[in-house]
Amino acid sequence: MEEVIIIGGGPAGLSASLYLARANLRPVIFAGLPPGGQLMLTSWVENFPGHQSILGPALIQQMREQVTKFGGRIIDQNITKVNLNISKIKVETEEKNYTAKTLVIAVGAAALWLEVPGEQRLRGKGVSACATCDGLFFKNKVVAVVGGGDSAMEEALTLTKHARKVFIIHRRDKFRASKIMQERVFKNEKIEIIWNSVVKEVLGEDKVTGLKIVNLITSQEEILAVDGLFVAIGHRPATDVFQGKLIMDDKGYIVTSDRVAREYLKFKTGATRLLISQEKLEKIVSLFDFNYQTMTSVRGVFAAGDCVDFDFCQAGTAAGLGIMAALEVERYLES
Ligand code: NAP
Repeated sequence: MEEVIIIGGGPAGLSASLYLARANLRPVIFAGLPPGGQLMLTSWVENFPGHQSILGPALIQQMREQVTKFGGRIIDQNITKVNLNISKIKVETEEKNYTAKTLVIAVGAAALWLEVPGEQRLRGKGVSACATCDGLFFKNKVVAVVGGGDSAMEEALTLTKHARKVFIIHRRDKFRASKIMQERVFKNEKIEIIWNSVVKEVLGEDKVTGLKIVNLITSQEEILAVDGLFVAIGHRPATDVFQGKLIMDDKGYIVTSDRVAREYLKFKTGATRLLISQEKLEKIVSLFDFNYQTMTSVRGVFAAGDCVDFDFCQAGTAAGLGIMAALEVERYLES
């Protein structure tokens, strides 16, 4: 039986693995196929501390080498089934079964895309799903954000720090974002909102030059000249294999003790933006061990990175959460 298995080969899984390998726990890491998560689809990363500018896949490669150097065993395979029994955790791939005392789930999430012509071809050439990562490339340019949730508001506000004009294209005549975020957007003079409209095509040969948009009320089409498109229509955590085996929220994000504690406090102090319903919170609170922050509703099973965090979604924050999970695994095994 292994001391610890890690599922996920992105920054959360590899950072957890690095700490666990250096703690002599000889972690087995299932990095997925293809391995590496969202960073493998990113071009230049300029906001990972310590790297002025590095390609996403190169950053992952460096992390993998660092893990291997300290004895981590990386397997580029997907997990097909898990059994989260407290005394013996079982993980299956198509070829083999593995058992472990503890598990770190760091399977990440994938950005949702519009699935329109031109979008995938121009990714990294003007099409992005992360303003914090790529906003700086659009200094004094014109960009558009698609979406009407908190992410879209945040992306648009971030982009106003760089771009000279930011359009928000939304398919309805109302945002679903929180009031405070909407107010900030409405007050910002650089932002113009295009309601009731969707993007039909992203235009440009080697880089984005415009968008074909259609108004859903009038059916009228127009070309909007922009240098960049930021898609902010949500993410989907890659947690299907854990469905029904531990507590998740309605969107499939894995719930950890830290999240329950924060939501519970919000509910007790009358905060309005509860992300887990009051009824569900009351039901699940007794399943969590609040001596740990990254532990899930199953003892010995920890979770970190974008499959837990829908808010920050950065390589750096994922790495940090992975490290927290690793330190808690060590503490748990010692106890
Ligand atoms: P979200 O709340 O699910 O919003 C997605 C938005 O994209 C919606 O406005 C939706 O339109 C639109 N959309 C979905 N599919 C589309 C498509 N194919 N074409 C065009 N538009 C499409 O997702 P999110 O904004 O990423 O937020 C996810 C969660 O994280 C939320 O609970 C949010 O509050 C939270 N969050 C919080 C913060 C913060 O507090 N700072 C920041 C970011 C995210 P409709 O409205 O018409 O459905």
